[in-house]
Amino acid sequence: MLEIRWSPPVSLQPLALGWLAAAGVEVGVLRLDLIDPLISGNKWYKLAPHLAAAARQGAEGLISLGGPHSNHLHALAAAGRRFAFPTAGLLRGEPCETPTVRDLQTFGMHLHWLGYGGYRARHRDGFWDVWRERYPRLHPVPEGGGGLPGALGCTVLRDMLLSGLEALGWPDYHGWWLAAGTGTTLAGLVLAEAGAHPVHGALAVPASHGVAPQVRAILTEAGMADVGYRLLDASRGGFARLDAGLARFILDSEREGGIPLDPVYTGKALLALREQVECGGIPRGSRLVFVHTGGLQGRRALAERLQRLGTRG
Ligand SMILES: *Cc1c(COP(=O)(O)O)cnc(C)c1O
Repeated sequence: MLEIRWSPPVSLQPLALGWLAAAGVEVGVLRLDLIDPLISGNKWYKLAPHLAAAARQGAEGLISLGGPHSNHLHALAAAGRRFAFPTAGLLRGEPCETPTVRDLQTFGMHLHWLGYGGYRARHRDGFWDVWRERYPRLHPVPEGGGGLPGALGCTVLRDMLLSGLEALGWPDYHGWWLAAGTGTTLAGLVLAEAGAHPVHGALAVPASHGVAPQVRAILTEAGMADVGYRLLDASRGGFARLDAGLARFILDSEREGGIPLDPVYTGKALLALREQVECGGIPRGSRLVFVHTGGLQGRRALAERLQRLGTRG
């Protein structure tokens, strides 16, 4: 049942923004937010190898965990709905209604609220025992779909780019730019590039969250050298922190460039790119691929704040 053959459509678009043109830098956006009406973003690619493993083991569906705005659970529930397999989600915190949670319910995901303490226990030995007993036919997926399997699922992003370069009118490209949370997607690109092009990761979390060791661990496990990428802090002081400068930047970029951004990942990543471009960190004539990793479903809960902060003053 879980044998899913689906190659999402490739959408690559040039990004027309004044500050890019002024610096002579070209950006093409790999729109993972447009792969499907229900499933959006990088999370599908991280899930695909887990789905394949589940199919090999004869499982019927997947169970995973996340917060009440989780892009990961949203993609999993949407995939379950789209391809007709059962899903269960273990949620952090106390029961609450968010646009994400309402979608999870609509998609038919079985939800369980673990509280905060219960959620913190997710790394303990035996955590999964009770859930395995309750859902013997569901294959467990680690939080966010991380690790080497998730990274390997993201190596196809390079193939997607190569198949779409011509549509962009580009003879080649000089590197990747993307938001990093756990660094799994970035690690997948580094594996796919094997040193051919640099991968720049704009960290949506403070550097102290251990992204660098996580990326290194994935590369080491894959037998690759720890090279070919760079991480920079784009968190603006904390995960999911939204300030007026970021809000204004997102609204302005959308108006000018026509591409919707989310405040947690893609907005911060593009703002970090502008800062690099403006301080001369990106050579004139560069052609960069910006990965739109999705996240727009999570933006709904922040829409009002985004407008309020972004249009003030
Ligand atoms: C999860 C997520 C990321 C981060 O992906 P990692 O593989 O954890 O680095 C980036 N952007 C969006 C929109 C996400 O949902």
